[in-house]
Amino acid sequence: MSTATIAKDRVFNFSAGPATLPESVLKQAQEDSWNIFDSGIGIMEHSHRGAAFDRVMQEAIDDCRAIGNIGDEFEVLFLQGGASTQFGMIPMSFLGKDQTADYADTGVWTTKAIAEGKRFGDVNIAYDGTALNFDRVPTAADLNLTDNAAYFHYCSNNTIYGTRYNEPPTTSAPMICDTSSEMFSRPFDFASHSMIYAGAQKNLGPSGVTLVLIRKDFAEKANPEVFSMMNYNKLIAGGSRFNTPPTFGIYMMGQVFKWILAQGGLPAIEQINTQKAQLLYDVIDEHDFYNGHSQKDCRSIMNVTFRTPNEDLDAKFLAEAATQRMSGLKGHRKVGGIRASIYNAFPTEGCEVLAQFMRDFAQQNG
Ligand code: PMP
Repeated sequence: MSTATIAKDRVFNFSAGPATLPESVLKQAQEDSWNIFDSGIGIMEHSHRGAAFDRVMQEAIDDCRAIGNIGDEFEVLFLQGGASTQFGMIPMSFLGKDQTADYADTGVWTTKAIAEGKRFGDVNIAYDGTALNFDRVPTAADLNLTDNAAYFHYCSNNTIYGTRYNEPPTTSAPMICDTSSEMFSRPFDFASHSMIYAGAQKNLGPSGVTLVLIRKDFAEKANPEVFSMMNYNKLIAGGSRFNTPPTFGIYMMGQVFKWILAQGGLPAIEQINTQKAQLLYDVIDEHDFYNGHSQKDCRSIMNVTFRTPNEDLDAKFLAEAATQRMSGLKGHRKVGGIRASIYNAFPTEGCEVLAQFMRDFAQQNG
């Protein structure tokens, strides 16, 4: 087993989120927690309206735009309450009583978004993957869309099941995408969407901050009656500082953005992520011992889900992996088995170590 590039006091963390962060970012944060920009004050101690935080915020916005080629037609917001708050804020703002919104149900997180949508208006389930236990995402032909829908909501990467859309779906309605578990992991057609949102704690930073990219002309349609902290236009007008924002989380996201740019941006990141995932999918495909959950044509490169022949072997797999400095591999209870979450900052070496472990385990237990 090669663990040469992992620090002696760290393990390979396959957690679905909060998840592995880039080592260089953690080290920089240690320094900046004590004294940022030579100000004599740590990042967490700075006023959210002072010059140091102004700089942190502006750099984070600029770097976010640079990574995703996000134009001025979008606002970049850093909000609170996690992606789950967006599940409610979206219909509260954009789904009128006499309107219908289309939702594709590709598993737990979209099911939750649908439940929140139904509190505010009419929801059309344009695709329901329940019968297949969400082992794939819909094709264009599967989508049963409504004319003049207020919006179409989907989740581009399904964390629990390990499925993803290779390309965004096509609809005439404004598209809203939950990209929580794959934000900035590959080039993505942001421009075809009206809104994209992602909780930070998988690919972007610590929990407690949610990145929201929202088209200005879409935001203008938001219901102005909702209370201020849920009001997109008030949050936009306040520059994500209507109240005290999660300053440390925004700082961390900004550092992760700088790290992504230093890696070569999204094309380079995608190449690395694809290679990492392939190391694991190759072992799954080469061994009848392993059974991948996702259908092959919509496999996620962020969450790799699979089972051994039975639950006892799943448990043995997890226990033995833990003794080899691999943690966070237990699958979600809806799918069972194993889930390897290998977000941007997860090192290639960790995938090599897991792939070799999988081969050895299959040989010993098959
Ligand atoms: N959407 C997706 C795709 C997720 O994976 C998660 C969290 N695992 C959520 C939404 C919920 O995020 P939060 O905990 O930030 O509300």
